[in-house]
Amino acid sequence: MVNKIINFEILNESILSVTWSDNHSCYLILEDIRNACPCATCKAAHKGFKKKIKLQNNLSYQLVSVEEVGNYALKFKWEDGHETGIYSYESLLKLCNCEK
Ligand SMILES: [Zn+2]
Ligand SMILES: [Zn+2]
Repeated sequence: MVNKIINFEILNESILSVTWSDNHSCYLILEDIRNACPCATCKAAHKGFKKKIKLQNNLSYQLVSVEEVGNYALKFKWEDGHETGIYSYESLLKLCNCEK
């Protein structure tokens, strides 16, 4: 069964707290989330690089809002106006640091 996000909360300016359907909760680092943006624009920007590029603009890491998309993903809106990245639960689970 696919692990789903059942609850989330913006904890502070750098952390998103999420609770999964298997009842584990974790803190996702906003910087990691933005660096993993799956939208076409960001993917193109990362193309050719193994390491993720650090964005220059600090606003890029400031979260404005988080929205649920269907029952499978979250959409993040950032202070720099970027909001095209739709993150599947699966991709967000990969950013979880607590079990490794
Ligand atoms: Zn976790
Ligand atoms: Zn993007």
